[in-house]
Amino acid sequence: MSAPNKSYDPVEVEALKPEEIERMRDEALAAFAAAADLQQLQEAKTAHTGGSSPLALANREIGALPPQAKADAGKRVGQARAAVGRALAARQGELEAERDARVLVEEAVDVTLPYDRTPSGARHPLTTFMERVADVFVAMGYEIAEGPEAEAEWFNFDALNFTPDHPARQMQDTFFVRGPQGAGDDESASGVVLRTHTSPVQARALLGRELPVYVVCPGRVYRTDELDATHTPVFHQIELLAVDEGLTMADLKGTLDHMVQSLFGAGMKTRLRPNYFPFTEPSAEMDMLCYVCKGASVGNPDRPCRTCASEGWIELGGCGMVNPRVLVACGVDPGRYSGFAFGFGIERMLMFRHNIEDMRDMVEGDVRFTRPFGMEI
Ligand SMILES: [Zn+2]
Repeated sequence: MSAPNKSYDPVEVEALKPEEIERMRDEALAAFAAAADLQQLQEAKTAHTGGSSPLALANREIGALPPQAKADAGKRVGQARAAVGRALAARQGELEAERDARVLVEEAVDVTLPYDRTPSGARHPLTTFMERVADVFVAMGYEIAEGPEAEAEWFNFDALNFTPDHPARQMQDTFFVRGPQGAGDDESASGVVLRTHTSPVQARALLGRELPVYVVCPGRVYRTDELDATHTPVFHQIELLAVDEGLTMADLKGTLDHMVQSLFGAGMKTRLRPNYFPFTEPSAEMDMLCYVCKGASVGNPDRPCRTCASEGWIELGGCGMVNPRVLVACGVDPGRYSGFAFGFGIERMLMFRHNIEDMRDMVEGDVRFTRPFGMEI
């Protein structure tokens, strides 16, 4: 900065000449106008209004001028700086408005789009329904028992009183598991099958637990069926076994009625029809009242029922009193203990309960089928 000098002529100070001040001002205005975004404007602001900008440097020269010259120069510089400040603020406003408008477009949220592009999964209705059935019995004090799916032929058939020539043992009905290498190509020689029912868990429970035994056994079973609307080679059963002193078929019947009432509502009941199974004696086929027409469609052509084909009853599964030969095979004294058992297919029950017409829907894994069942866990 120059020292005060009475004879100083501001017009002679290069930086304070009017045309120089105008040039500095116009350069600043041009730079602001040329700034394409807020970043460029910030750079222009630093260059033209900062501490080392031409106008700031010119401003410093003013202090060294004589009073009159100081006033003139101060007015010129002041006006120029004010004009620069206004231009800066105006351009700043324009660029901020542009940025806000752009952000509104670029970051717009379309509230009509699906809110979640990754749909959440859900458990399969077979799983949740099987657990729901099991829960009915757990609430009555039963324990859940499980067994292997690759099962010893002895547990799957022999312990359950299937004779060696029983047709169920044939390879057109049962998957036999091939033995270790070198054991030959005869699968049936391995003595291992994919269990054809959950009943072998009965034998395992009797052999492995203290009496009395109250168990419910849900699980996957296998048969050599082709997949079609009413068959699948892999399906699910739930099996019940109670062995105690003094159990009768009345206990079985009451338990079955309680189960269908728990699953299908009050007023439901079951009926038993004589049948034959190797592992129960006497044995019965279990039907439940049609939960749609409650039997009202029987003999009433005006009110046909598709669910039960107007028969009033729906076949559910097999049951009976545990065959004493099974008790003996499992080390239980049939003179002191008796028991009942029943089992049914989960797929079939789920089909009735939800009007599912094709069994393939349950195994193909299409979320359009499972989604209506919701996120039940
Ligand atoms: Zn019906």
